[in-house]
Amino acid sequence: MFFNLNPFRSQAPCTLCARSGGGLCTLCRAHLQASLTLEKPLCRCGLPTPGVAAASLCGRCLRRPPPFSATYSQWRYDFPVDRLINAYKHRGRLHLERALLSLAEPAPGPWPEADLVCPLPAHWRRRLWRGFDQAERFARHLGQSWRQPVVPLLRRRHASQHQQGLSQTQRQRNLRDAFIADPRAHGQRVLLIDDVMTSGGSARAASHALLNAGALEVRVWVLARTLQGRV
Ligand SMILES: [Zn+2]
Ligand SMILES: [Zn+2]
Repeated sequence: MFFNLNPFRSQAPCTLCARSGGGLCTLCRAHLQASLTLEKPLCRCGLPTPGVAAASLCGRCLRRPPPFSATYSQWRYDFPVDRLINAYKHRGRLHLERALLSLAEPAPGPWPEADLVCPLPAHWRRRLWRGFDQAERFARHLGQSWRQPVVPLLRRRHASQHQQGLSQTQRQRNLRDAFIADPRAHGQRVLLIDDVMTSGGSARAASHALLNAGALEVRVWVLARTLQGRV
């Protein structure tokens, strides 16, 4: 298996195996679906809770329930999805975006009752560095295919430091009040869109901001969920 990262080919071959397929070929699609789909039931935080009744919380969420009421995750964050996402984030290959999103659930989407989809914004410095904000691009794409309006209701208050290498307490302190929500969140059921959920800290902080602004309910959609943080 190798990665074809050449963006200039007009007939894009499969991103994972270079067979023809435009984004992802049928074989790679089947492989991803079979090996990286998270097994249900899932906790509110998106982690599998094997052996327990549906709709029950994992140990971590029992101790500290998330403010959002569900997490929809397309895949487990693992090879090769991790490589695809990193290549996309750091090198901005937009044909990878097509490949990554080509398996997202079709209309009406995971939460048809949502009033809108809202990207969880990257910090402007990172956006400037990359030249794009992946959550915003995902939200636009998904809103279109789910036929739900895309309303960017959040912005970052200040530079949150890179989260890697920080303790959980430092992360939480860092993230507290990290987001400002637009008053238009009032009375809305908001589906937050992000690329990867790791600790769920950003999703918690963003959801708090939206709920404080009067949102009725917040759920989260991520392309991939890491299994670290599982209790
Ligand atoms: Zn392939
Ligand atoms: Zn949980």
